[in-house]
Amino acid sequence: MKLEQLLEKCPKCGTTDKTAKRKFIDEHKAHAELESITCDKCGYVFEEKKMEK
Ligand SMILES: [Zn+2]
Repeated sequence: MKLEQLLEKCPKCGTTDKTAKRKFIDEHKAHAELESITCDKCGYVFEEKKMEK
């Protein structure tokens, strides 16, 4: 996940408003991983979380 992806325009509707979903990866919620970035307007999913690093 790169920061640029948060600033990208949606390829479908062109908005830059997005919702980044996070998933907490431990019970104390000290760490969170980004799961996906979804367009606020049309629901386009920019990137699903990938296992590779
Ligand atoms: Zn969109």
